[in-house]
Amino acid sequence: MLHPYRSSKSFPGLGSFRRIPRWTPPAVLAWILLSASACSQQPERPTPATSTVPKAPFVRVVGSVQDGGFPHVACSHEACRKARESGARRLVAGLAVVLPGPERTYLVDATPDVAAQLELLADVRRPPQDRVDREPVDGIFLTHAHIGHYVGLAFFGFEAVHTRLLPVYCTRRMASYLRTNGPWSQMVETGNIVLAEIELDQPQRLGDDVTVTAIRSPHRDEFSDTVGFIIRGPRSSLLYLPDTDSWQAWSTPVLEVLQHVDVALLDGTFYSRDEMPGRDVVSIGHPLIEESIRRFGEGNGDGGTRIYFTHLNHSNPALDPDGIEAARIRAAGFGIVREGDEFEL
Ligand SMILES: [Zn+2]
Ligand SMILES: [Zn+2]
Ligand SMILES: [Zn+2]
Repeated sequence: MLHPYRSSKSFPGLGSFRRIPRWTPPAVLAWILLSASACSQQPERPTPATSTVPKAPFVRVVGSVQDGGFPHVACSHEACRKARESGARRLVAGLAVVLPGPERTYLVDATPDVAAQLELLADVRRPPQDRVDREPVDGIFLTHAHIGHYVGLAFFGFEAVHTRLLPVYCTRRMASYLRTNGPWSQMVETGNIVLAEIELDQPQRLGDDVTVTAIRSPHRDEFSDTVGFIIRGPRSSLLYLPDTDSWQAWSTPVLEVLQHVDVALLDGTFYSRDEMPGRDVVSIGHPLIEESIRRFGEGNGDGGTRIYFTHLNHSNPALDPDGIEAARIRAAGFGIVREGDEFEL
């Protein structure tokens, strides 16, 4: 039996965009604590002399919606209109892997929202003062060549961040695509990025105790193949699979993969097949959240895996955290990630 998370108390919470960052510098943390203390009229307590900031590696969610964003580019349907009016923007699906010990940060996918996503990592970086940080991350893992997952790479080029030999980890086919098509080819030639080809199912070591392993994901593979990543740390492991065809397309049953990870962030593009008027979303080729809940909630497997959905399309009613669909997902023991959610590794 899979055991998705049961409550936002037990596991990294939903909607935690404004939580106190775990890497808040001690001085700022002391200020927050003193401010809270002053507001609540409680007696002041001395600030601890030594920091107790946890040093375990972790994954932070930096985006949770489909390639077109939310509100979706050029869309005026009701949910997008309301999101635009209220400023309730969500970012295109991506992760950061943070290794506090060696102070290294890696992105998983370079999305069109990469500028806002780097801002979400301000608390885990020590950037140089008063100038552009030419090393805002230590590497980027790419899942595939669809716009939401790699075009943000362009911002690391000469016209913007202008990195020097930034490692870009991707499959051989993805690397070949980048090497032979502009503007990516120029980034390779000028040394903004260096392509690090990875083999499927071969762990890539990021630090003493963290590895990233690419696994094949069946998907529309026009320019590149598509992978998901298993990120393993000393205490926990996480599967990131933002884009896949339906679960029936998997040659290795997906439950076999799920049984070997503690947390899975899965393709939740569509909630049900009728959510886009006049279009059967099954023909687009993603598992439906309704189907995933049926499949993974029916007692298959025994990994104790906690399952969350990500990469939600703007048409997905589960984007509304107060809606009935989000409530159904939670009631079934699953979750929906939001920007700022963290998972310890
Ligand atoms: Zn996508
Ligand atoms: Zn829309
Ligand atoms: Zn895709």
